Amino acid sequence: MTTTARQNPVFRFAPSPNGPLHLGHALSAFLNDDMAKAAKGRLLLRIEDIDLSRCTPEFEADIYADLQWLGIDWEKPVRRQQEHFSEYQASLHSLIERGLVYPSFLTRGEVKTRVAAYERVNGPWPRDPDGTPHYPADDRDRSEEERGALLASGLKHAWRLDMKRALDVVGEPLFWTETGDERKGDILAEPAVWGDVVLSRSDAPSSYHLSVVIDDALQGVTHVVRGLDLFHATSVHRLLQSLLDLPQPIYHHHRLVVDSNGRKLSKSEGDTGLAELRASGLSAADIRRRVGL
Ligand code: GLU
Repeated sequence: MTTTARQNPVFRFAPSPNGPLHLGHALSAFLNDDMAKAAKGRLLLRIEDIDLSRCTPEFEADIYADLQWLGIDWEKPVRRQQEHFSEYQASLHSLIERGLVYPSFLTRGEVKTRVAAYERVNGPWPRDPDGTPHYPADDRDRSEEERGALLASGLKHAWRLDMKRALDVVGEPLFWTETGDERKGDILAEPAVWGDVVLSRSDAPSSYHLSVVIDDALQGVTHVVRGLDLFHATSVHRLLQSLLDLPQPIYHHHRLVVDSNGRKLSKSEGDTGLAELRASGLSAADIRRRVGL
């Protein structure tokens, strides 16, 4: 699969309505808008709301209001991920049928206990780039009978990618094209560092990784512009694109806006929240300056 180089570049800003947008989101939205305009491309807005317990219509309404205030225009209709669970499930099922995905039954607490017990004796357990321990191999190594019995018992479960098998199926190194603020050029994808990632959560019929690659493909996205905090996740995205035979966009991971202690902003920090800045009478031009544009 070659890098997509279409006539009409398509950019997207893809916030999650699980909290108020902050200056980091403003930087991302401005960059998407600026780059789409410079490339004479289109700008889409995608609402990434698969987390049913944390996403709310109020936060979604704030996203529209904040972007309007920033002077950013996007194509309608907006794609809302909650309305597309059946599409994510269809891709998940194709991977299950190919034996590349398995049901995982351990709770987060059980994994934590297991990892702590291991580390007391043996030293560090492998962790992913976000610091989450790799999922233990128990469920991956179960027989079909055992798996069937556990599923039939109604035990809560997620669906995870069998990373080893997936890499065997792909059988060659994967790369992505990066134009971002830290590294540029052809970047080697290293999905193995993530272990067996979740593709469908126990509380939602998809996951961030699965939805994002399917939507980027279905929406014809050619340029993904997002924060450097998602740089390493791109390795998983490239692997899924290869497994699902999806085109690959060009990636641009931009610098993060940090607080006075040099930490990445979080959605709970009031003083950098766009709604509060908007209410305090600042203009879009003020916000552009605040994020260093
Ligand atoms: N929904 C993600 C977020 O709000 C962004 C996903 C992406 O741009 O790929 O952090």
